[in-house]
Amino acid sequence: MSVEQPAWKALPDDRAELQFSDAKPAFSEAEAIIEANRCLYCYDAPCIKACPAGIDIPAFIKKIATGNIRGSARTIFKSNMLGVSTARVCPVDVLCVGACVLNDLNEQPIRIGRLQRYATAETLEAESRADWELFTPKAAIGKRVALVGAGPAALACAAHLVLEGVTAVIYEKDDRPGGLNLTGVAPYKLQSEAALAEAKWLLRNGVQLKTGVEVGRDIELEQLIKQYDAIFIGVGLGTDKALGIPGEDGPGVWGGSGLIRKIKNDPSFELPDDIQAVVVIGGGNTAIDIARELAMLGVPDVKMLYRRTVGEMPGYGHELQGARKYGVRLLERLTPTAVIRDGDRVTAFRATSTVSGVASDYPCDWVVVAIGQEKHAVHLAEAIEVDEKGRLVVDPRTRRTGHAKVYAGGDCINGGQEVVNAATDGREAAFAMLRSWDIAPELA
Ligand SMILES: Cc1cc2nc3c(=O)[nH]c(=O)nc-3n(C[C@H](O)[C@H](O)[C@H](O)COP(=O)(O)OP(=O)(O)OC[C@H]3O[C@@H](n4cnc5c(N)ncnc54)[C@H](O)[C@@H]3O)c2cc1C
Ligand code: SF4
Repeated sequence: MSVEQPAWKALPDDRAELQFSDAKPAFSEAEAIIEANRCLYCYDAPCIKACPAGIDIPAFIKKIATGNIRGSARTIFKSNMLGVSTARVCPVDVLCVGACVLNDLNEQPIRIGRLQRYATAETLEAESRADWELFTPKAAIGKRVALVGAGPAALACAAHLVLEGVTAVIYEKDDRPGGLNLTGVAPYKLQSEAALAEAKWLLRNGVQLKTGVEVGRDIELEQLIKQYDAIFIGVGLGTDKALGIPGEDGPGVWGGSGLIRKIKNDPSFELPDDIQAVVVIGGGNTAIDIARELAMLGVPDVKMLYRRTVGEMPGYGHELQGARKYGVRLLERLTPTAVIRDGDRVTAFRATSTVSGVASDYPCDWVVVAIGQEKHAVHLAEAIEVDEKGRLVVDPRTRRTGHAKVYAGGDCINGGQEVVNAATDGREAAFAMLRSWDIAPELA
């Protein structure tokens, strides 16, 4: 099928993210085959149950072992259209790899993410050179769906819809597709070029992409509801939350995801030489990521300040361990109190011990506030219910909102989970739309 590919603004080639190397490089063919042959192909495999997308992991590993790489990739994409990026960004230690039975046998668990990366990357590379397609889209069925946002949730949904002959049109406020895969995920896991290459593959069967269009500002959701047979909302989360403490407003204080976005995509960002000490506030994965990224970029003193104890941190233990390898230190039981400045310049962060009640100053040049992101789905339509935490309310089976034509998925319904959850929501919403039109999705 020959369709016009959507184009987007080229990536600048002087991004700070290019200074990072791949933390888990791709397997060679020999490494992949040896690893695949270690799998026990368990009956009732716990790794499948631990995968939010429910990928048939032993089946795709078996196909690698028998040399059927294309079949292996089909098994992966059938359940997870974001199989390329999730192979690299999934927190496998707490999902499939953490559940692998080999852990109980005191053996190294199967490196499932790296096998997934091998199968998907090899196949897409082969597909780009050959005259076959991994999935062939069906003829148009006369249904049209608008998708809001071009992050993992909407990209997965659109990719499933076009395979069934649905016209899918994505409205994205940024210049490029990819969502947080492009702008947020740590550059030692996935860089922007790889995120865009995956988006291009997902859009290849005729998904239309309208960049620079913000729904709710440039076009109203109500208008889309009138024009299309169904809508999928995949807008993710909003801007970084602020602490609301004295001294916070002004230069030298960054939001966690905002600073990561600069490191990944902004050619004007360069870490100044005089930034010797940074205090990162928060205990989640974004706080850990930015702390590690700054340490890797050369900041000699990076401290994370968390209000509770390490055992209560929402961030993953393996990610904290990774940051500690680069010298990041964690200070516990501290409540943010004030940013101390000398004129405009940040000189310290004041925090109060939750144990002693004593306030101390931690000298620093920058403060990064990584305590979560605001929800921004609320303004989209009055007809769509939002819970007390600002998440869009959906039927957990279909991802349909209270509005009969509107579905939603990803961070805007779960408050911020992983790429694999967003991809699964996109898939389930696509299947539910198709079923509502009496079409049985082939990949279900
Ligand atoms: C710093 C950081 C690091 C992370 N690291 C990992 C990781 O290592 N592994 C992992 O699995 N997950 C990670 N995550 C989480 C993961 O990135 C998200 O769960 C996932 O991207 C959610 O996908 P989504 O499609 O719901 O939203 P997003 O990826 O946020 O995409 C939403 C898209 O919608 C667009 N949009 C928003 N509003 C509008 C509008 N009104 N009109 C048009 N377009 C709009 C946005 O511009 C964006 O492109 C990380 C998150 C952050 C913040
Ligand atoms: S649990 Fe481990 S050994 Fe068993 S099928 Fe899954 S990856 Fe293979």
